[in-house]
Amino acid sequence: MMKAITGTKDILPDEIGKWRKLEKIVINTFRNYNYKEIRTPVFEETKIFSRGIGESTDIVSKEMYTFLDRSGTSITLKPEMTATVVRALIEHSLYKKNSLNKFFYISPMFRQERPQAGRLRQFHQFGAEAIGSNNPFLDAEMIIIAFRILKQLGLKNISVKINSLGVHQSREKYKKLLREFLADHFNDLSNESKKRFDTNILRIFDSKEEQDQKIMENAPLLIEYLDDESLEHFEKVKISLLDAKIPFEIDPKLVRGLDYYTHTTFEIISSSVGSQSALCGGGRYNGLCKELDGPDLPGVGFAAGIERILLACENEKSLNIDEEKIDLYIVTINPVIYNYAFNLAINFREKNLSVEMDYLNRSLKAQMREANKLNSRYVLIIGGEEFQNNLLVLKNMSNGEQLTVSANDIDKLISLIRGN
Ligand code: AMP
Repeated sequence: MMKAITGTKDILPDEIGKWRKLEKIVINTFRNYNYKEIRTPVFEETKIFSRGIGESTDIVSKEMYTFLDRSGTSITLKPEMTATVVRALIEHSLYKKNSLNKFFYISPMFRQERPQAGRLRQFHQFGAEAIGSNNPFLDAEMIIIAFRILKQLGLKNISVKINSLGVHQSREKYKKLLREFLADHFNDLSNESKKRFDTNILRIFDSKEEQDQKIMENAPLLIEYLDDESLEHFEKVKISLLDAKIPFEIDPKLVRGLDYYTHTTFEIISSSVGSQSALCGGGRYNGLCKELDGPDLPGVGFAAGIERILLACENEKSLNIDEEKIDLYIVTINPVIYNYAFNLAINFREKNLSVEMDYLNRSLKAQMREANKLNSRYVLIIGGEEFQNNLLVLKNMSNGEQLTVSANDIDKLISLIRGN
């Protein structure tokens, strides 16, 4: 049997209701905060990501779907959105039109990770990027938006973790200290962390290996070495979150090991989804635009994983979807009048009613069963004696009431079905 590729998933019609509801909440929340939607191609030149995300990250070093196309260009399916959005901002000079650009997106992403619950190879993210301002309100705004969306989805078991990476200079000073500390423990580090010692030392905090975690318990913490500017920025973010009544904790080990990350980093964790517990992550990236050959603009953003959020909703039974209904099912008893029924259905659909009819030459009983299965609000019966007399029978499926209407009076039928 032909199957979808491991780590990819069909989203079947039964599940679409949850996606639509989530998307509606996402779009509406971003509208309230004045973020504009951006859609970018599914694939880009590889260098956008290798430079925009960083060679030393897991994403670039082992997870990207990269291939040469027929003209020999290295192409990558997008593993995340930030680099792509920044590329679009620079390419279209959007920063010249607006000093601050606030974007949001909903998009599939691709990463060749080991599939497990909450970890896929094609997954979907919604997220935002605000580019052009270093205002700490925007760092807070990202966290508030993400938190508010998750709350509107009814999630209870979520917690917000924040940290500050400060500005580049204080981080470089701190990295020296960390290197000195870890040099004394180098032989006890895992092989992966030994590599990170040279390539991306901050990421050793992310290690899941017990031996690394034990060492890192006593490591100096970046947050204790922040300069005044960074401390002030962080303080403003915290105050804004307190004002917005967003509960949060400071996690000094929450790092993003890339040079262009500055100031705030954050994650929202769920205790309802097992080991892949991060529903969303984000932070400030003041050096990225310049890194991608654009102007030196500050930015901040976040991305949230839709499949993982829906898994959390399912486990918390928090997202209730209304049963889908159609307005009308047309039951046709006599095959001679199928044409009439088909045209009538089109007519109703043009009037913005959702209408179904029989395409399988089913019996009257089977058609009525189908109307029930589709949760049709009304059934229109065409056939028999009434039809000979130019009459149609409209049945209200919620109370069983039947009404006979002239076939010439379609407007009356429509207004009955619409309920006005
Ligand atoms: P990141 O872009 O790595 O910061 O991830 C942001 C969010 O996307 C995570 O918190 C997850 O919810 C989601 N995510 C990341 N990778 C995957 C994946 N392989 N499968 C499903 N969701 C993912």
